[in-house]
Amino acid sequence: MPMFAVTSQLGIDLLNVAYLIAAVLFILGLKGLGKVKTARRGNALSALGMLVAAVATFFHLTGGTAISLLWVIPALLLGAAIGTVMAVKVKMTGMPQMVGLLNGFGGLASLLVATGDYANSWRKIWLIEESHLLVAHAIDHLFSWDGQAAVGLATLIGGVTFTGSIMAFGKLQGTRWAPDHAVQFPGQKAVIAALLALSLLLTLVLMVWPGAGWALLLIALLALVLGVLLVVGIGGGDMPVVIALLNAYSGLAASMAGFALGNFALIITGALVGASGLILTSIMCKAMNRSLANVLFGGVGAAPSGGGHTSGTAGSGGTHRAFSAEDAALVMEASQSIIIVPGYGMAVAQAQHAVKELADELHKRGKVVQYAIHPVAGRMPGHMNVLLAEAGVAYDTLLDLEHANPQLAMADVALVIGANDVTNPAARYDTGSPIYGMPILDVDKARQVFVIKRSMSPGFAGIQNQLYFTPNCGMIFGDAKKIVTELMNELEQI
Ligand code: NDP
Repeated sequence: MPMFAVTSQLGIDLLNVAYLIAAVLFILGLKGLGKVKTARRGNALSALGMLVAAVATFFHLTGGTAISLLWVIPALLLGAAIGTVMAVKVKMTGMPQMVGLLNGFGGLASLLVATGDYANSWRKIWLIEESHLLVAHAIDHLFSWDGQAAVGLATLIGGVTFTGSIMAFGKLQGTRWAPDHAVQFPGQKAVIAALLALSLLLTLVLMVWPGAGWALLLIALLALVLGVLLVVGIGGGDMPVVIALLNAYSGLAASMAGFALGNFALIITGALVGASGLILTSIMCKAMNRSLANVLFGGVGAAPSGGGHTSGTAGSGGTHRAFSAEDAALVMEASQSIIIVPGYGMAVAQAQHAVKELADELHKRGKVVQYAIHPVAGRMPGHMNVLLAEAGVAYDTLLDLEHANPQLAMADVALVIGANDVTNPAARYDTGSPIYGMPILDVDKARQVFVIKRSMSPGFAGIQNQLYFTPNCGMIFGDAKKIVTELMNELEQI
């Protein structure tokens, strides 16, 4: 660990204390992010942790000889300026792409840190006049098998994360160079497995023969190709899950870079990002009742753009009943408890503010109004929570799946606004349904259900929703924002 050894013991102790404080802040921050109510505080605590770690590292490094302020400060200012502009300009619906890009650059940073550390160690050995102590540490570092394993793995995972994330960004952004559908070719899995095996073999070469700089270069190139191959075969609709997984990869890459540098803060932060990314990936897969292997290699969405999500309606199995906003307003006025179930259509229509106004009006009339949030409603984790928070909906009226279902069974009205798959009762009983086994919101158990959507078109899974043909379900056709506004007007006239 050359970086630590060149400074005084007091400096090292202070740095480690700062890193410990940062790690505690990260853990408290993550705990806060686990609940809607404490999420803002969690975010602030994590940001404070990052500030403590960055400032401590900055002073520690500038105290030694490792880095020049001339490089750090302009890079910091440029990065902060680009980040600020992007954060201000990005729309809520563009958030998954933005997160994808951030993961990608995290991966690239780990790749550059690892390869840079490798090159720097050799530079110190070649420039023997620099300092004998530095040279001795560089030799120690280079000729340790674990150090080289970390360099190889950080380069491999960082490279995969970088190009994989850029590909995911392109698919979500609808760019021409990254087709939205899953691009698969015969033998794709075998090629991926072979490239991965070769990269690991090259890491092994680096571990036993630290002078093999060519092996590191090859690992970097293979990783960049692997990232593209892994993601190009996945349909655009699955990109949010892929982005959560790439987030985990970026954490692992950072952790490996931390091992290469001997930087405890990076090791801990990377491990936390890696673990939380994996947990999020697993939650998303479970909520869609799909395995990670199915998301990565199932080729869902292999049909050309649009086909996978909008066609292929299953047999309707009955007739639906259309209601007007006026009818629905009358029923709601006579009800006591109303549960609103938002979905992707609410996001498309940007109806969240109108929904909040309607809920406020119902509340004024003495109704108990709550929101049932499915973990994969919309197109990214927390999509509905963020939209409703933006509209000022109180956190304590949001029910997660587990708490929503018992309440739905007792509710007078379930008002489904642009949600489809997450309310399909076929997931409970139809073993032939592609969403069979997916946990759903049991809106059909409410006394009366109203569904606001524009047509009988299916949702993301491409199947017809059996809910629409149940006797207690009424369809109100139209754009979510328009219909919710109409409902509000009708209520005001009662
Ligand atoms: P769905 O995609 O199942 O359905 C959305 C519905 O909204 C459509 O049926 C559509 O019907 C309707 N709609 C679209 N635009 C409007 C509009 N302007 N006004 C009113 N209605 C509109 O959404 P859900 O939220 O129920 O389910 C999410 C799906 O996405 C699940 O299948 C999930 O697995 C998947 N998914 C979710 C991810 C996540 O992280 N959240 C990640 C990846 C996939 P119509 O065209 O008739 O209006």
